[in-house]
Amino acid sequence: MMTFGYVEDADRLFARFVVTQALLLPATPESLRVVALSVALQLQLELPERAEIGNDGSSQPQNSSTRLTKPASLGESCPACRSEVLLEDLATATCANGHVWQRCSITSLLMTAAASRTCVVCCRKALVTTRQRALHAPWNGAWTVYEMLEAVQRCVWCGNEFVGIVQ
Ligand SMILES: [Zn+2]
Ligand SMILES: [Zn+2]
Repeated sequence: MMTFGYVEDADRLFARFVVTQALLLPATPESLRVVALSVALQLQLELPERAEIGNDGSSQPQNSSTRLTKPASLGESCPACRSEVLLEDLATATCANGHVWQRCSITSLLMTAAASRTCVVCCRKALVTTRQRALHAPWNGAWTVYEMLEAVQRCVWCGNEFVGIVQ
């Protein structure tokens, strides 16, 4: 079992963001679901309601579906108007006032930074960041986000290279 030391609030929030995706995506493998639940237990994360976790069999989603089986409220707000943004889909997000955002292909966070990289094949975008470059609230200071962005150097969706970093 994994063990965790001291965890910052922003990292705990991001862990909940990731765990919720694992539990609410229709095609999450059972082994990954078990890991997600283990992390949630160790970090004492609030989970989506048990009855609504995973695919109940009423739909037959594609394995590649990026859409969650139900929207999740995870503390994200619209950078333009501050209204809440629910996590409904790993690719895009729309706030209550209709502002549309793409999501980072690596972290699923909103693509709000000026600097981004784009996969040459599937064209999904990813954040480019360093510890010096602030992430939008509530993720600023979450070292797990920085570590993930620094570690991933190829598109996690199709394995190809990124280009087009715009500063
Ligand atoms: Zn908005
Ligand atoms: Zn790609």
